[in-house]
Amino acid sequence: MLNCAKCGSHPCYKGELDKLPSNCPMKSQSELYDEAAVIYRESDGSMACNSARVEAGGYGVWPRIREIMEFARLSGFNKLGLAFCVGLRKEACEVNRIFESNGFAVASVMCKTGCRPKEELGLRDDEKVRPGQLEAMCNPVVQALLLNKEQTDLNILLGLCVGHDTIFIKHSKAPITVLAVKDRATGHNPLAAIYAGHYFQSKVNLK
Ligand code: SF4
Repeated sequence: MLNCAKCGSHPCYKGELDKLPSNCPMKSQSELYDEAAVIYRESDGSMACNSARVEAGGYGVWPRIREIMEFARLSGFNKLGLAFCVGLRKEACEVNRIFESNGFAVASVMCKTGCRPKEELGLRDDEKVRPGQLEAMCNPVVQALLLNKEQTDLNILLGLCVGHDTIFIKHSKAPITVLAVKDRATGHNPLAAIYAGHYFQSKVNLK
């Protein structure tokens, strides 16, 4: 089993190749690193370079929205898709404005588009957030299909829920990056539950 999370020393990061732990994939699966190198050479190398250029260009200074625009510009992604959640519709309006004012074309689509009832998915009334009333399902499949039809160059996720983002990623033809994830309990800052572990421990320890 891969276990970089428990490595502790991370010698790969420092180039100390004589200190790799015994279960390191660099030892046991070196052929996959060669396979990855071919993929970079044949298809994803320029995106990887652009990503590294953005990382170095604004390291610790540019907010992620700036990094996304720099990455898009370097990669020639002129038409952006913005897949957003109804809960972040005000943020989506501002993000849209920023992208457009920086010269990008933006196609945006909100999660509730279609207004299909959650019952259509097989959910019971008592499984809804607010039982007893119409609750439109989030529809990440159609968000992806609409943006596919728009032929966007890069799709940007803004606040899609856990699982809805998974489905969107599965169906999007364009490459994807994330501006923000949905985390209602932390102001959309999921690492707050890690950094303030003492406060969140009763909410994350499931046993
Ligand atoms: S040294 Fe090996 S096991 Fe440790 S983090 Fe790097 S790749 Fe993972």
